[in-house]
Amino acid sequence: MIEMNEVNSKMVEALMVSCIGCKRCEKVCPSYAHGGCDPYYVMHGWDGNVKACIGCGKCSESCPATDPKTVMMHMKAEALGLSIPDSFVKHGYVIPPKDASWREGLLEVPEGDDMYLMPGCIVNGKIPHLKYAAARAFRAVGVGIRELPGNKCCMYPLPLRGMTDVERNSVKYRMRNGMHGRETVTLCSGCCNEMARGGVYTPHVSTVLARYTGRIAELPGVGGLKVALEPGCSAERFAADFEAVVRSTGAEPIGNSRGCCGKNIEGVSEALMKERQAECADADVIVVGCPNCMVFYDAVPNGKPVLHLTELVALAAGDSETQRYHRLKLDPARIKK
Ligand code: SF4
Ligand code: SF4
Repeated sequence: MIEMNEVNSKMVEALMVSCIGCKRCEKVCPSYAHGGCDPYYVMHGWDGNVKACIGCGKCSESCPATDPKTVMMHMKAEALGLSIPDSFVKHGYVIPPKDASWREGLLEVPEGDDMYLMPGCIVNGKIPHLKYAAARAFRAVGVGIRELPGNKCCMYPLPLRGMTDVERNSVKYRMRNGMHGRETVTLCSGCCNEMARGGVYTPHVSTVLARYTGRIAELPGVGGLKVALEPGCSAERFAADFEAVVRSTGAEPIGNSRGCCGKNIEGVSEALMKERQAECADADVIVVGCPNCMVFYDAVPNGKPVLHLTELVALAAGDSETQRYHRLKLDPARIKK
Protein backbone atom coordinates (compact mmCIF):
# COMPACT_ATOMS: atom_id res chain seq x y z
CA MET A 1 0.00 0.00 0.00
CA ILE A 2 1.13 3.54 -0.75
CA GLU A 3 2.41 5.40 2.25
CA MET A 4 3.90 8.72 1.44
CA ASN A 5 7.65 8.37 1.53
CA GLU A 6 9.83 11.10 2.99
CA VAL A 7 10.66 12.73 -0.34
CA ASN A 8 7.02 12.96 -1.45
CA SER A 9 5.89 13.96 2.01
CA LYS A 10 8.28 16.94 2.04
CA MET A 11 7.27 17.93 -1.48
CA VAL A 12 3.55 17.79 -0.63
CA GLU A 13 4.11 19.72 2.59
CA ALA A 14 5.99 22.44 0.71
CA LEU A 15 3.11 22.76 -1.76
CA MET A 16 0.57 22.95 1.06
CA VAL A 17 2.35 25.66 3.03
CA SER A 18 2.55 27.77 -0.13
CA CYS A 19 -1.24 28.07 -0.24
CA ILE A 20 -2.39 31.66 0.31
CA GLY A 21 -5.98 30.70 1.07
CA CYS A 22 -7.62 32.52 -1.85
CA LYS A 23 -10.10 29.65 -2.48
CA ARG A 24 -9.92 30.00 -6.26
CA CYS A 25 -9.49 26.23 -6.42
CA GLU A 26 -12.89 25.73 -4.78
CA LYS A 27 -14.60 27.98 -7.30
CA VAL A 28 -13.37 26.05 -10.35
CA CYS A 29 -13.43 22.51 -8.95
CA PRO A 30 -16.11 20.41 -10.72
CA SER A 31 -16.06 17.88 -7.89
CA TYR A 32 -16.64 20.54 -5.23
CA ALA A 33 -19.52 21.98 -7.28
CA HIS A 34 -21.26 18.62 -6.96
CA GLY A 35 -20.62 17.97 -3.28
CA GLY A 36 -17.32 16.14 -3.77
CA CYS A 37 -13.75 17.13 -2.97
CA ASP A 38 -12.85 20.47 -1.38
CA PRO A 39 -9.29 21.29 -2.49
CA TYR A 40 -9.01 24.25 -0.10
CA TYR A 41 -9.73 21.98 2.85
CA VAL A 42 -7.29 19.33 1.66
CA MET A 43 -4.60 21.99 1.23
CA HIS A 44 -5.05 22.90 4.87
CA GLY A 45 -4.73 19.36 6.14
CA TRP A 46 -8.43 18.82 6.85
CA ASP A 47 -10.57 16.02 5.50
CA GLY A 48 -11.69 17.55 2.22
CA ASN A 49 -13.06 14.28 0.81
CA VAL A 50 -9.97 13.93 -1.36
CA LYS A 51 -11.18 10.52 -2.58
CA ALA A 52 -13.73 12.43 -4.69
CA CYS A 53 -11.05 14.39 -6.58
CA ILE A 54 -11.41 13.77 -10.32
CA GLY A 55 -7.84 14.76 -11.14
CA CYS A 56 -8.97 17.32 -13.71
CA GLY A 57 -6.31 19.89 -12.78
CA LYS A 58 -8.62 22.92 -12.81
CA CYS A 59 -7.43 23.85 -9.30
CA SER A 60 -3.79 24.10 -10.35
CA GLU A 61 -4.68 26.01 -13.52
CA SER A 62 -6.34 28.71 -11.44
CA CYS A 63 -4.06 28.67 -8.39
CA PRO A 64 -1.80 31.73 -8.15
CA ALA A 65 0.59 30.28 -5.56
CA THR A 66 1.06 26.52 -5.59
CA ASP A 67 0.06 23.20 -7.21
CA PRO A 68 -3.01 21.75 -5.47
CA LYS A 69 -3.55 19.01 -8.04
CA THR A 70 -0.24 17.36 -7.19
CA VAL A 71 -1.22 17.45 -3.51
CA MET A 72 -4.61 15.88 -4.34
CA MET A 73 -2.99 13.09 -6.35
CA HIS A 74 -0.65 12.07 -3.53
CA MET A 75 -3.28 12.45 -0.81
CA LYS A 76 -5.86 10.50 -2.78
CA ALA A 77 -3.46 7.65 -3.54
CA GLU A 78 -2.70 7.38 0.16
CA ALA A 79 -6.36 7.68 1.21
CA LEU A 80 -7.36 4.90 -1.19
CA GLY A 81 -4.51 2.69 -0.03
CA LEU A 82 -3.36 2.04 -3.59
CA SER A 83 -0.29 0.00 -4.40
CA ILE A 84 1.79 -0.50 -7.51
CA PRO A 85 -0.15 -3.05 -9.58
CA ASP A 86 1.36 -6.31 -10.79
CA SER A 87 0.63 -5.31 -14.38
CA PHE A 88 3.00 -2.34 -14.02
CA VAL A 89 5.78 -4.63 -12.84
CA LYS A 90 5.05 -7.10 -15.64
CA HIS A 91 4.15 -4.83 -18.57
CA GLY A 92 5.11 -1.31 -17.53
CA TYR A 93 1.42 -0.39 -17.64
CA VAL A 94 -1.02 -0.03 -14.74
CA ILE A 95 -3.75 -1.52 -16.94
CA PRO A 96 -2.83 -4.84 -18.54
CA PRO A 97 -2.53 -4.44 -22.34
CA LYS A 98 -5.24 -6.08 -24.49
CA ASP A 99 -4.11 -9.16 -26.33
CA ALA A 100 -3.45 -8.82 -30.04
CA SER A 101 -6.80 -10.33 -31.06
CA TRP A 102 -8.46 -6.89 -30.89
CA ARG A 103 -7.02 -6.18 -34.33
CA GLU A 104 -8.58 -9.14 -36.15
CA GLY A 105 -10.55 -8.19 -39.23
CA LEU A 106 -9.23 -4.66 -39.51
CA LEU A 107 -7.63 -3.39 -42.70
CA GLU A 108 -3.85 -3.19 -42.71
CA VAL A 109 -2.47 0.32 -42.43
CA PRO A 110 1.18 0.49 -43.46
CA GLU A 111 3.48 1.65 -40.69
CA GLY A 112 5.85 4.52 -41.35
CA ASP A 113 8.91 6.14 -39.89
CA ASP A 114 7.82 9.76 -39.73
CA MET A 115 6.69 9.66 -36.11
CA TYR A 116 6.32 7.33 -33.17
CA LEU A 117 3.04 6.76 -31.36
CA MET A 118 2.88 6.52 -27.56
CA PRO A 119 -0.55 4.98 -26.89
CA GLY A 120 -0.78 5.14 -23.07
CA CYS A 121 -2.52 2.89 -20.52
CA ILE A 122 -6.15 3.49 -21.44
CA VAL A 123 -5.64 2.98 -25.17
CA ASN A 124 -3.36 -0.02 -24.70
CA GLY A 125 -5.59 -1.69 -22.14
CA LYS A 126 -9.15 -0.62 -22.91
CA ILE A 127 -9.57 0.92 -26.37
CA PRO A 128 -6.63 -0.21 -28.53
CA HIS A 129 -8.67 0.48 -31.67
CA LEU A 130 -7.53 4.10 -31.27
CA LYS A 131 -4.10 2.92 -32.39
CA TYR A 132 -5.71 1.88 -35.66
CA ALA A 133 -7.63 5.18 -35.88
CA ALA A 134 -4.40 7.12 -35.29
CA ALA A 135 -2.49 5.18 -37.95
CA ARG A 136 -5.38 5.71 -40.35
CA ALA A 137 -5.72 9.43 -39.61
CA PHE A 138 -2.01 10.10 -40.02
CA ARG A 139 -1.75 7.95 -43.12
CA ALA A 140 -4.59 10.00 -44.63
CA VAL A 141 -2.46 13.15 -44.34
CA GLY A 142 0.69 11.45 -45.62
CA VAL A 143 2.38 10.77 -42.30
CA GLY A 144 3.55 7.26 -41.42
CA ILE A 145 3.59 6.33 -37.74
CA ARG A 146 4.57 3.26 -35.74
CA GLU A 147 4.33 2.41 -32.07
CA LEU A 148 7.24 3.56 -29.94
CA PRO A 149 9.29 0.42 -29.23
CA GLY A 150 9.21 -0.49 -25.54
CA ASN A 151 6.63 2.19 -24.70
CA LYS A 152 5.43 2.22 -21.10
CA CYS A 153 3.05 4.12 -18.88
CA CYS A 154 3.58 7.91 -18.81
CA MET A 155 3.76 7.51 -14.99
CA TYR A 156 0.75 9.70 -14.28
CA PRO A 157 -1.69 7.17 -12.72
CA LEU A 158 -2.46 7.31 -9.01
CA PRO A 159 -1.11 3.83 -8.15
CA LEU A 160 2.37 5.07 -9.11
CA ARG A 161 2.39 7.90 -6.55
CA GLY A 162 4.32 5.70 -4.13
CA MET A 163 7.36 6.38 -6.31
CA THR A 164 9.29 9.64 -6.14
CA ASP A 165 9.39 12.09 -9.06
CA VAL A 166 12.96 11.00 -9.75
CA GLU A 167 11.90 7.35 -10.01
CA ARG A 168 8.89 8.17 -12.17
CA ASN A 169 10.92 10.47 -14.42
CA SER A 170 13.53 7.78 -15.00
CA VAL A 171 10.88 5.72 -16.83
CA LYS A 172 10.11 8.73 -19.04
CA TYR A 173 13.79 9.24 -19.81
CA ARG A 174 14.20 5.63 -20.86
CA MET A 175 11.33 6.12 -23.30
CA ARG A 176 12.90 9.34 -24.57
CA ASN A 177 16.15 7.49 -25.22
CA GLY A 178 14.19 4.98 -27.31
CA MET A 179 12.83 7.78 -29.50
CA HIS A 180 16.29 8.56 -30.91
CA GLY A 181 15.20 12.11 -31.63
CA ARG A 182 12.06 11.14 -33.51
CA GLU A 183 8.94 13.08 -32.58
CA THR A 184 6.44 10.97 -30.61
CA VAL A 185 2.73 11.74 -30.62
CA THR A 186 0.40 10.99 -27.68
CA LEU A 187 -3.33 10.22 -27.92
CA CYS A 188 -3.95 11.17 -24.30
CA SER A 189 -3.49 14.69 -22.96
CA GLY A 190 -2.70 13.19 -19.54
CA CYS A 191 0.30 11.38 -21.09
CA CYS A 192 1.36 14.54 -22.91
CA ASN A 193 1.21 16.67 -19.77
CA GLU A 194 2.87 14.11 -17.51
CA MET A 195 5.75 13.51 -19.92
CA ALA A 196 6.21 17.30 -20.13
CA ARG A 197 6.48 17.47 -16.33
CA GLY A 198 9.57 15.31 -16.69
CA GLY A 199 10.87 17.52 -19.51
CA VAL A 200 10.01 15.06 -22.30
CA TYR A 201 8.14 16.58 -25.24
CA THR A 202 5.52 14.22 -26.66
CA PRO A 203 2.94 16.44 -28.39
CA HIS A 204 -0.76 15.70 -28.16
CA VAL A 205 -2.44 14.46 -31.31
CA SER A 206 -4.42 17.73 -31.58
CA THR A 207 -1.18 19.70 -31.86
CA VAL A 208 0.26 17.42 -34.50
CA LEU A 209 -2.85 17.01 -36.64
CA ALA A 210 -3.34 20.79 -36.56
CA ARG A 211 -0.24 21.04 -38.78
CA TYR A 212 -2.14 19.20 -41.49
CA THR A 213 -5.53 20.90 -41.55
CA GLY A 214 -4.99 21.81 -45.21
CA ARG A 215 -4.57 18.14 -46.12
CA ILE A 216 -7.47 17.05 -43.92
CA ALA A 217 -9.70 19.58 -45.70
CA GLU A 218 -8.90 17.81 -49.00
CA LEU A 219 -10.25 14.46 -47.72
CA PRO A 220 -13.83 13.40 -48.57
CA GLY A 221 -14.81 14.81 -45.16
CA VAL A 222 -17.80 14.54 -42.86
CA GLY A 223 -19.68 17.58 -44.11
CA GLY A 224 -22.86 18.24 -42.21
CA LEU A 225 -21.94 16.19 -39.15
CA LYS A 226 -22.96 18.20 -36.09
CA VAL A 227 -20.41 17.78 -33.33
CA ALA A 228 -20.01 18.74 -29.69
CA LEU A 229 -16.41 19.51 -28.73
CA GLU A 230 -15.12 18.00 -25.50
CA PRO A 231 -11.32 18.00 -25.64
CA GLY A 232 -11.16 16.93 -21.98
CA CYS A 233 -9.99 18.79 -18.87
CA SER A 234 -6.30 18.16 -19.32
CA ALA A 235 -6.49 19.01 -23.05
CA GLU A 236 -7.86 22.52 -22.56
CA ARG A 237 -4.56 24.05 -23.63
CA PHE A 238 -4.84 22.25 -26.97
CA ALA A 239 -8.45 23.31 -27.47
CA ALA A 240 -7.71 25.72 -30.35
CA ASP A 241 -5.76 23.05 -32.26
CA PHE A 242 -8.43 20.49 -31.45
CA GLU A 243 -11.18 22.70 -32.88
CA ALA A 244 -9.12 23.57 -35.98
CA VAL A 245 -8.71 19.87 -36.77
CA VAL A 246 -12.41 19.17 -36.22
CA ARG A 247 -13.43 22.05 -38.48
CA SER A 248 -11.02 20.93 -41.21
CA THR A 249 -12.98 17.66 -41.52
CA GLY A 250 -16.08 19.64 -42.49
CA ALA A 251 -17.82 18.84 -39.18
CA GLU A 252 -19.90 21.64 -37.69
CA PRO A 253 -19.37 22.38 -33.97
CA ILE A 254 -22.62 23.18 -32.18
CA GLY A 255 -20.93 25.67 -29.85
CA ASN A 256 -21.41 23.80 -26.59
CA SER A 257 -19.64 24.87 -23.43
CA ARG A 258 -16.90 22.38 -22.53
CA GLY A 259 -16.76 20.46 -19.28
CA CYS A 260 -15.59 17.48 -17.28
CA CYS A 261 -16.85 13.94 -17.96
CA GLY A 262 -16.57 13.22 -14.21
CA LYS A 263 -14.65 9.95 -14.63
CA ASN A 264 -15.92 7.39 -12.10
CA ILE A 265 -16.30 9.29 -8.85
CA GLU A 266 -19.25 8.06 -6.85
CA GLY A 267 -21.84 10.75 -6.17
CA VAL A 268 -20.18 13.25 -8.53
CA SER A 269 -19.77 11.63 -11.95
CA GLU A 270 -23.43 10.99 -12.62
CA ALA A 271 -24.39 14.65 -12.21
CA LEU A 272 -21.44 15.85 -14.27
CA MET A 273 -22.16 13.45 -17.11
CA LYS A 274 -25.83 14.43 -17.07
CA GLU A 275 -24.77 18.04 -17.59
CA ARG A 276 -22.48 17.04 -20.46
CA GLN A 277 -25.16 15.00 -22.20
CA ALA A 278 -27.64 17.90 -21.92
CA GLU A 279 -25.05 20.36 -23.22
CA CYS A 280 -24.29 18.10 -26.20
CA ALA A 281 -27.91 17.17 -26.96
CA ASP A 282 -28.04 18.96 -30.34
CA ALA A 283 -24.99 17.16 -31.73
CA ASP A 284 -24.85 13.96 -33.79
CA VAL A 285 -21.72 12.96 -31.96
CA ILE A 286 -19.36 14.13 -29.21
CA VAL A 287 -15.72 14.49 -30.27
CA VAL A 288 -13.16 14.01 -27.49
CA GLY A 289 -9.40 14.43 -27.20
CA CYS A 290 -8.98 12.16 -24.18
CA PRO A 291 -9.18 8.34 -24.23
CA ASN A 292 -10.45 8.28 -20.66
CA CYS A 293 -13.35 10.63 -21.54
CA MET A 294 -14.06 8.36 -24.48
CA VAL A 295 -14.47 5.32 -22.24
CA PHE A 296 -16.87 7.15 -19.92
CA TYR A 297 -18.97 8.78 -22.67
CA ASP A 298 -19.34 5.46 -24.48
CA ALA A 299 -20.65 3.83 -21.29
CA VAL A 300 -23.60 6.20 -20.77
CA PRO A 301 -26.96 4.41 -21.10
CA ASN A 302 -28.83 6.02 -24.03
CA GLY A 303 -25.99 8.53 -24.33
CA LYS A 304 -24.71 10.43 -27.32
CA PRO A 305 -22.21 8.57 -29.56
CA VAL A 306 -18.59 9.60 -29.11
CA LEU A 307 -15.54 9.74 -31.39
CA HIS A 308 -11.92 10.36 -30.51
CA LEU A 309 -10.34 13.07 -32.69
CA THR A 310 -8.34 10.45 -34.59
CA GLU A 311 -11.53 8.56 -35.40
CA LEU A 312 -13.11 11.73 -36.78
CA VAL A 313 -10.16 12.29 -39.13
CA ALA A 314 -10.21 8.60 -40.14
CA LEU A 315 -13.93 9.01 -40.81
CA ALA A 316 -13.20 12.07 -42.95
CA ALA A 317 -10.90 9.79 -44.96
CA GLY A 318 -13.78 7.31 -45.41
CA ASP A 319 -12.81 4.82 -42.69
CA SER A 320 -15.42 3.96 -40.06
CA GLU A 321 -13.85 0.61 -39.07
CA THR A 322 -13.53 1.46 -35.38
CA GLN A 323 -17.27 1.97 -35.01
CA ARG A 324 -17.52 -1.78 -34.39
CA TYR A 325 -15.84 -1.29 -31.01
CA HIS A 326 -18.27 1.36 -29.83
CA ARG A 327 -21.20 0.62 -27.59
CA LEU A 328 -22.99 3.76 -28.79
CA LYS A 329 -22.83 3.81 -32.59
CA LEU A 330 -22.95 6.84 -34.82
CA ASP A 331 -25.99 6.90 -37.11
CA PRO A 332 -24.64 5.35 -40.37
CA ALA A 333 -26.58 7.95 -42.36
CA ARG A 334 -24.26 10.56 -40.87
CA ILE A 335 -21.08 8.74 -41.95
CA LYS A 336 -19.74 9.76 -45.32
CA LYS A 337 -18.21 6.85 -47.18
S1 SF4 B 1 -6.17 28.36 -5.35
FE1 SF4 B 1 -4.14 27.76 -4.58
S2 SF4 B 1 -3.58 29.35 -3.12
FE2 SF4 B 1 -5.76 29.57 -3.48
S3 SF4 B 1 -6.72 28.33 -1.82
FE3 SF4 B 1 -6.50 26.98 -3.59
S4 SF4 B 1 -4.52 25.97 -3.29
FE4 SF4 B 1 -4.56 27.75 -1.94
S1 SF4 C 1 -7.96 18.11 -9.65
FE1 SF4 C 1 -10.03 18.80 -10.28
S2 SF4 C 1 -11.43 17.60 -9.01
FE2 SF4 C 1 -9.41 17.47 -8.03
S3 SF4 C 1 -9.39 19.14 -6.55
FE3 SF4 C 1 -8.46 19.94 -8.43
S4 SF4 C 1 -10.17 20.90 -9.52
FE4 SF4 C 1 -11.06 19.56 -7.97
